[in-house]
Order: sequence, then structure tokens, then C-alpha cells
Amino acid sequence: KPELNLPPGTSPLMAQYLSIKAAYPDCVLFYRMGDFYELFFEDAVKAARALDIALTKHGEHDGEPIPMCGVPVHAADAYLSRLIRQGFKVGVCEQVEDPAEAKKRGSKSVVRREVVRVVTPGTITEDSLLDARRNNYLAALAQSGGSDGQFALAWLDLSTGEFGLTETTQAGLAADLARVSPRELVLPEGLLARAEMRAMFEQLDTALSPLPSARFDSQAGERRLKAALGVSALDAFGHFSRAEFCAAGALLDYVDLTQCGRLPRLDPPVKQPPLSVMAIDPATRRNLELVETTSGQRDGALLDCIDATLTGAGARLLAQRLQAPLTDPQAIAARHDAVAYLVDTTRLRADIRAALGKVPDLARALSRVSLGRGGPRDLSSLRDGLSQAGALRQRLAGESALPPELISLRDALGDHAVLVQSLSEALAEELPLMQRDGNFVRAGYHAPLDELRVLRDESRRHIAALQDRYAADTGISGLKIRHNNVLGYYIEITPAHAPKMGQQYIHRQTMANAMRYATPELGELESRISQAGDRALAMELEIFDRMCSEVLGNAQSITRAAAALAALDVASALAELAVQRRWVRPQIDDSLRFCITGGRHPVVESALERAGQGERFVANDCDLSEGQKLWLLTGPNMAGKSTFLRQNALIAVLAQMGSFVPAMKAELGVVDRLFSRVGAADDLARGRSTFMVEMVETAAILHQSGSRALVILDEIGRGTATFDGLSIAWAVVEYLHEKNRCRGLFATHYHELTALSEKLPQLSNHTLKVKEWEGELVFLHEVGPGAADRSYGIQVAKLAGLPDGVLQRASEVLHALEQSDQTGRSAKLVDDLPLFSLAAPAKAVAAAPPSEVEGALKKADIDALSPKQALDLLYQLKALI
Ligand code: ADP
Repeated sequence: KPELNLPPGTSPLMAQYLSIKAAYPDCVLFYRMGDFYELFFEDAVKAARALDIALTKHGEHDGEPIPMCGVPVHAADAYLSRLIRQGFKVGVCEQVEDPAEAKKRGSKSVVRREVVRVVTPGTITEDSLLDARRNNYLAALAQSGGSDGQFALAWLDLSTGEFGLTETTQAGLAADLARVSPRELVLPEGLLARAEMRAMFEQLDTALSPLPSARFDSQAGERRLKAALGVSALDAFGHFSRAEFCAAGALLDYVDLTQCGRLPRLDPPVKQPPLSVMAIDPATRRNLELVETTSGQRDGALLDCIDATLTGAGARLLAQRLQAPLTDPQAIAARHDAVAYLVDTTRLRADIRAALGKVPDLARALSRVSLGRGGPRDLSSLRDGLSQAGALRQRLAGESALPPELISLRDALGDHAVLVQSLSEALAEELPLMQRDGNFVRAGYHAPLDELRVLRDESRRHIAALQDRYAADTGISGLKIRHNNVLGYYIEITPAHAPKMGQQYIHRQTMANAMRYATPELGELESRISQAGDRALAMELEIFDRMCSEVLGNAQSITRAAAALAALDVASALAELAVQRRWVRPQIDDSLRFCITGGRHPVVESALERAGQGERFVANDCDLSEGQKLWLLTGPNMAGKSTFLRQNALIAVLAQMGSFVPAMKAELGVVDRLFSRVGAADDLARGRSTFMVEMVETAAILHQSGSRALVILDEIGRGTATFDGLSIAWAVVEYLHEKNRCRGLFATHYHELTALSEKLPQLSNHTLKVKEWEGELVFLHEVGPGAADRSYGIQVAKLAGLPDGVLQRASEVLHALEQSDQTGRSAKLVDDLPLFSLAAPAKAVAAAPPSEVEGALKKADIDALSPKQALDLLYQLKALI
């Protein structure tokens, strides 16, 4: 414990506060005082600002007033969540003894208090603080050996018990972190001090909790892991490296610290073997908008578009799978088999989904129970969820030709009839939120409890009878028996009636408009009631504990059932999606083909459908098989290049995560790494040196892509001067072709690049078709062989509403540029092209397209107009100017 130098005159309460606070310097301390959590000093100032609540003062410390603010205990969750969201850690300090006990020690003594929990972004378990449809991971990163040693990442969702571990490298770390996307990352201080590491962490939307390196010790880690899993040998869970022990140990250590010694129940660690999932780095995830759009919204991202799951756990699993597409064709096929079966069996799918609609969040309820934070409603959730699991198992038992994946899910649902029965018998129909509210045990479940309740309720009836008797005795019809926390039960009358009160009524209190009395009889009844109430509650709490133990005794099979329900949810949701949107089963193998017929972009297609203006998404083929592994895509802006590029990447992701895909047919060789980059101009919002970022990212692709990679490059090189950009794009295409030999799609404005296809055998030119119709540009959104003849930039600018004069002038400049030999002799160009001048528009006007008035006049057939129509026309023309 840190030594404290308290100034003379410090109150005992402040002394206690300061000593507790000193042990949690990086937390905002919620210090329990009666019905409030109070905050003092700096904490109060920070929290008052963050929560927008009033800052007051509480006495003095060392001659200065103490700033204070407070939040009521019953509303603390909401304030807590706002602080956590703003990146604070909160220490929750409770009174751990009855104030009466403290009084016994002396009038000055302070109620004992302890921090019972530290709430951090990665360690929350309350439903009110959590997003039901997302995991909330706490992760720890460690490196064994020196600064060139192996890395490992361990992660845990405290709210569900899911626990994962993987080894990784410095190059692969960013992708692994992005895949897990922890809310909070524990890491050694030394790592955070390294500039390249810090740059990577900045890209993540993660709260960082650096700890001294000593906490990342592999031997201590091994011990902790064994203790947490309750085993003396870890062999059953696989082989762990030193770095993995370091990471797991630091993670568990941090959980211990924040939960103040309470460790939740943990699932056995899932070891993610390296290379078992598609590597997708953070920039690619962002560009492809897998989970969030580039602007950080969930709406409009792929996950939101494909999420038809019905349970929180299903939604979490779907997100996990989308973040980590598989690379083993067999494992992928097993998932496809399950979806395919549910696509074909409409009734079964409907039955499964109907049952899932009634399944609460088993994993989170179980985790709360295991942390001692469960309430009666967690038990009813477990009862309802497990009873649905049983029903679903029976339903699936009736199916004869289930694929292996569904068979194993069916078996994992397990048999929980005994537990369901016992919970159903014990729990009342209506349940309070907290067990301390009592009355959650069903009447008739436990005879002694019923007796106490009868006693309690009868006594209440006695009180009512007593009131009638006293009223009759005294002749005061308005006499009432009331209750408050100070006096307990008392008799109340208005002062005017006081003379009527006889000797047996003992005066207790005089108020402005009431007199209060007690009687020995009333006192006796009171103690009987409160005793019965207390004993009933104690008995209920005992029953609650027994139910919790029974639940925890089944924790493993409940976890298995919960996981199976989530997986059934995902499979049936993907099947539902496939049916509704006419998606097909992709064929995945070990080859290097990439052949998609009639592919669509799931998000753009849905958006068009929702817009409901009759515009249909145009399906396109993409074949990156041998002989044309690299496609060079040209076409004007807005023609659909980005959409086409991304849809092929998304189809690969969807296929490998186990989903059907938006296409007529898809045959893919497994993609082990996916890269997607957009030229710097699209990335301005991030406000960094964008060209530099673009080049750093391109470098990563060129270093890391092997023949199994899929690389999507959109307008690389446009962040710099034309000739620089063209040269870089040129060299990148050559390098991808010669060195990386990966499959790839490359969209570019530089038409010069199309000439490369003559030299590079795998490079194939494609273009997005457009048509010019009556001077207007029409986008067909169709991909065909060949190169765009020109970029139609001026026509696109016209669509965007650039003034006619500018468009006209741009056409002239373009024409002149095309005439010149393009060696950069701009001085000559300036001579040839006198400056554009609004003051001398003669030439521009002459060549300008007809104005709206002119157009209308040209269309009008004057001879055919009636006088009335002629007058109308005149009004219309007038309105146009
Ligand atoms: P580019 O990258 O060539 O500038 P985008 O891919 O951004 O073009 O597409 C521009 C717009 O065209 C999209 O927002 C979308 O609404 C529409 N679009 C693109 N591809 C298609 C398609 N295949 N079918 C229908 N509309 C499309």
C-alpha cells in the first residue's frame, strides 16, 4: 500500500477516501455514500465535465474546498457507461459493512469500504452497458524474448467467457488485432514506446492499457492459465508458446485486478492456428466496409446488410465469422453444407427461426451468474433458452439427412430437462431485477418460505385490523397507521385530535400538521413483520444461491448449448438471406481460380432496391483464372469501377466465411490474404499525409502478397502529380505480375497502362461500358473486355452541374492537350490557348450548348399552338430566366 502523507485535520472519511484512491490512481473512483456514489477532487472535476452534472463542494482539505459531484446508485449504470465510452476507467468502491457495525466501534469511525470492481471498456458485463449483438473483447498482447521475438495475442469476452489465443508476427499483428477488434488492449509499456507500434495502435478503435513489462511473465502466465482453467496440465488444450503464456497470463492478471479477485468462468481457449483464417489488414477492412463504413457507421456496412440473425449470440458469431473467413476448403464446405440444407428445407428453417426468436442471451446470463452478478432474470433466461434448445434438438432429431455440421450442432444442444425443470419449479412468474428485492421464488416451492410469507402478510393484515380498532377506540376516523424508515410503524392523527389519545398511546413525534404515536402492540407486530420479511428474504437468497450452483454445475454443457444455438442462428440466417436474395453456393477449393459469373455487390444492390426507383443492379462476371490473373479496369468516374472491384472481394469474404454469395455462380480457389487499397484522394477525410499513407500501404501489399492473395487496387498513384502517379502505378502492376503473381483487380485513370497488356501475359484489360446518347453520358455498369477510349471527365463534370462556360472551356483545353505531344510543354499551350475570360465570352457563347429557353423554343411547334397554349408557353419561358 502506498504511504500517504495526510495534512493535519484530515477527516477520517477523507483519510479513507484518499488511501483507497491512492491504490487506484488511474481510475475515477465511485465512492459509495448511502444512496450515492460520490466523486472528489480531480475525479469530480473530470466526471462533472464528462457527464455534464453539477460540481459542488464537500468541506475542506488542507485549507482548500474539496470539489465533489455524485450520481445516484440506482442510475449509476447510465453514468458508468458514459464514462466508459469516453475512455475512463471507473473504480467502484462500496460500503462493505453495515453502518451500524461502524457505529459500534465508536461515533467517529467510518464505514469500511473497498473497491469491489474496476470497470474498464474491456471488462463490462452488464446488459445495460453492452451491445447485445457485438462481442466485447479484452485482449492482451505480449512479445517473448527481445524486440524481435514472437508475438502472441490473447482475448477474452468477460460477458460470455469466450477465450482465444493466437501467435502472430509483427507483420501479421495489425490484421489479427483488426480481426479480434478488442475494446481494450493490455500491453507492455515497452511496446507502446516503439513508434511503429504506436502508429499501428492508433489505427485501432481500442482503449490501451499499458502495464509494466514484469506482468508479462511466461511462467507466471502458465500458472495463471492452469489455475483459471482448473487443470494441472494444459496438454488437452494444445501446445502453447512462451509468448502465448505471457499474453494469457497478463490478460488473466488484468481480469483479476479489475474484478477484484473474481474470475469468471472461462471457455477452454480456442487456439487459432496461424494461417487458418484469411488475413485482412485494418485498411482493407475499412475500405471494404466489412463491419463499419469508412465513416464509422454500422449502417451501410456489409455486416449490417447480411445480418438476419435473431439472437444476440448469433449476431456476435456472425460478426466473428465475417471478421475471420476460413482458409480450409473442407471447413468452409461444412458450413456451406449446413446453409444449403436449411435453404432446401423451408419448414425446418422456419421452425428453427421461430424457436430462436424466443432464445435469450444464455452466454451472458451464465457469465453474470459465474461472476456473482446474476439476478433472478438471468436464471429465467437460462431456463427459457435451455428449454428452447431442448425443443430444437427434438425438432432436428426428426430430420433424416442432416449434414455433419448440423448433426454436431444438434448433439451439442444437449439435454437440460432436469435443470429446466428445477428452475421452472423454483422461479416465480414475475421476477424482480435484483435478488435482494425478493419474491422471486414461486409460492409452493419451499414450505418454510411460504410459512414466513404467510406470517409476514398476516401481520400486515393485523396492522390493518389494528388501525380499525384504534380508530374505534379513540373515535378518530382519520387515524392511520403508517410506516417510515426512522420510526417504523406508527399511528398518525391530526393535532386537533390529540386530546382524544389515551394513556396507552405513547407520543413519538409532533409535526406541523400531524402527531405520531406508538403502542407496544404495534412495536411487537412490527418486529414480527420485519423478522418474517428478513427471514423470508434470507431464505430466498439461499434458494437463489442453490439455483446458481446448480446452473454453474452445468456450465460446460450450457456453454456448448449456447454456442450451438448461436451457430444454428447463423446457419439459418444465412440460409434465409440466400433464399430472399437469390444467392448461390460458391465452390471453394485449393486451386488458384477465381471465376464469378453474374456477381453483384450486396450492399449497393440492397441500397438500389431500397431506393425503389426501379434501377436494377447490373450483374458482372469476373474471371481471374490462369492467363488473366490481373485485370486492369478503366472507365469514367461513376461508371462502377469501385463497386465492381469491391464486390469481388466481398464475394470472396462471404464465400470463405461460409455464406452463400450474390452471384449466379462462383468458383474460387482459397484466398489466404486480402488487400484492398483506395488511391489517396478518396482518403482525405482521415487527414493524414494521404499520399504517404497510400504508398506505405502499397508497400505492405507488395511485400506480403503471395500467389494465394487477392489484391484490389483502386486508383493507386492518383495522390501525386500525373507522371509520378502513372510511373508508380505502372511499376506496381509489373511487380504484382512478375513477383507477387497474385490474383488482382486494378482500377486506374491512366489509360496508358492498358498498353502493358501486350507485354504482361497475365494482364487483361477490361472496361466499364458507357454510351453517349443525345450529348448525355449513360452508364451501363457493364464490365466488358477492352479499354475505355477516353475518360469522359468533362461529361461527368457536366452531370455534376459545373457551369456551362467552364465545361466549354475545359473541352477546348482538352482538345489542345490532345493535339500537343504531351511532353509537358505547358508554356506553348498557354500561348496557343488565350486565357478564358468571362468578359469576352463571344466564342464561348457561340459554342455553348443551347440554354433552356432556347431548347424550349426549339421544341415548340408554334403553328400548332392555340392562343391559350401560346400564352402558357410565354409564361413558362419567362419562368425559365
Ligand atoms: P467509379 O468507381 O467508377 O467512380 P462507383 O463504383 O463509385 O464508380 O459507382 C458509382 C455509382 O454507380 C454507385 O454508387 C452505384 O449507385 C452505381 N453502380 C455501380 N455499379 C453498378 C451496377 N453494377 N449496377 C447498378 N448500379 C451501379
